[in-house]
Amino acid sequence: MNAHVRNADPKQLIKGATGDWEIVIGLEIHAQVTSQAKLFSGSSTAFGAEPNSHVSLVDAAMPGMLPVINEECVRQAVRTGLGLNAQINRRSVFDRKNYFYPDLPQGYQISQYKSPIVGEGEIIVDVSPTEQIKVGIERLHLEQDAGKSLHDQHPTMSFVDLNRSGVALMEIVSRPDLRSADEAKAYVTKLRTILRYLGTCDGDMEKGNLRADVNVSVRKPGAPFGTRCEIKNVNSIRFIGQAVDVEARRQIGILEDGGKIDQETRLYDPSKGETRSMRSKEEAHDYRYFPDPDLLPLEFDQALVDALKVALPELPDAKKARLIAQYGLSPYDAAVLVAEREQADFFEAVAKGRDGKAAANWVINELFGRLNKEGRDVTASPMSADQLGGIVDLIGEGVISGKIAKDLFEIVWNEGGDPRALVEARGMKQVTDTGAIEKVIDEVIAANPDKVEQAKAKPSMAGWFVGQVMKASGGKANPAAVNEILARKLGLS
Ligand code: ADP
Ligand code: MG
Repeated sequence: MNAHVRNADPKQLIKGATGDWEIVIGLEIHAQVTSQAKLFSGSSTAFGAEPNSHVSLVDAAMPGMLPVINEECVRQAVRTGLGLNAQINRRSVFDRKNYFYPDLPQGYQISQYKSPIVGEGEIIVDVSPTEQIKVGIERLHLEQDAGKSLHDQHPTMSFVDLNRSGVALMEIVSRPDLRSADEAKAYVTKLRTILRYLGTCDGDMEKGNLRADVNVSVRKPGAPFGTRCEIKNVNSIRFIGQAVDVEARRQIGILEDGGKIDQETRLYDPSKGETRSMRSKEEAHDYRYFPDPDLLPLEFDQALVDALKVALPELPDAKKARLIAQYGLSPYDAAVLVAEREQADFFEAVAKGRDGKAAANWVINELFGRLNKEGRDVTASPMSADQLGGIVDLIGEGVISGKIAKDLFEIVWNEGGDPRALVEARGMKQVTDTGAIEKVIDEVIAANPDKVEQAKAKPSMAGWFVGQVMKASGGKANPAAVNEILARKLGLS
């Protein structure tokens, strides 16, 4: 299992009283499959319905009901496996994982244990726009979600809502390849992006559609792996990072005091900033896994895999490489754009037939900056790609200056309209008429004879004149023309 063990970068090590410690992290991600119906029944998966309104006899585990596999969930798992560069197992087995919980009426979860639908894979994780690591995927299997116990509806009773019971989940298990909280966060971010591109999970962590079990251990650099603790159901990327750091420090404290780590399941409490024990770690044999006798092994042809493969969308790594090559973007800009498919699409609509770098600059710095400020995403942008492209064109043609373009951006954002027509109607055109610019410059020079003397001694003073002229022209004077004429008039050229 440890054939390709990564070593942490020295800067990732934690200083303890007894020397440096390395954090080792492996993640199990539960991702809700995007599908209309549940894994083994026809009930709807829609979120937010009345409690117990999407529950078939199968989901409620009525005696004698038989599960029937939902083929769309199988296709989604295969698509995901392909997106993770993973081995697709054309034969897999559903097992019963037995345990009691009030929100699990079957008394077992149908899952996959020894023969999962997807085997080993690998993803490239962007720790920064220019620094990547490879993280191994151990497996991906399909399983049922449980229902939900409601403890806050009645003073003396608990209720159960089975709407989620039987919804398909993909459990995606990483190798213990991650070495810091930042790497763990970057891994989940990348995995979420890939799932969203594939359309196999919406990645909505607030709704619980993507959640992580975070396995953490510590070791002295080069030593064998330590005993891990598993922090269950962490539901935000920020909390994943916090849980890793808090748990690693707890373990280091115990080890440095001469204690040992008990393998256990813990919970992260963000309000207290601590993890606490939930239960000692259960072993696989505690669950009495056995093949579900109601389901045949899941088998499909290579033709299905091939058909799904050719229909995959362009994935984030390929898109990033293409944006860099095709539009001359920096890795940083390309990384920002590909984080969401819709962002990259918007950029490409603006960049089509225009200068790629200028388009990226306006899309990322102005548009995304503004959207962020208002808490909107690009699909809710009040400004279309055509409108923003129109502004980029006007700058490129020298019709408006970069400064006026920002004013124009505000107008289009707030009022809508065609940028070119607005520039025309509101007299925002840049003044390139050198006669007019000269006139303004002469006035500024005449009004400031002392400054003229200073500028002759100290040419960097010319910048002050540029500012005055721009101000006097309402920001509309062409800056290149201003610079040139000023230098001549001040005798600096
Ligand atoms: P289980 O079902 O018992 O949780 P899995 O094999 O499904 O076991 O998942 C184990 C997870 O723990 C994997 O993500 C793996 O990378 C991670 N892991 C295994 N050993 C360690 C370790 N020593 N430290 C940190 N993570 C580990
Ligand atoms: Mg586990």
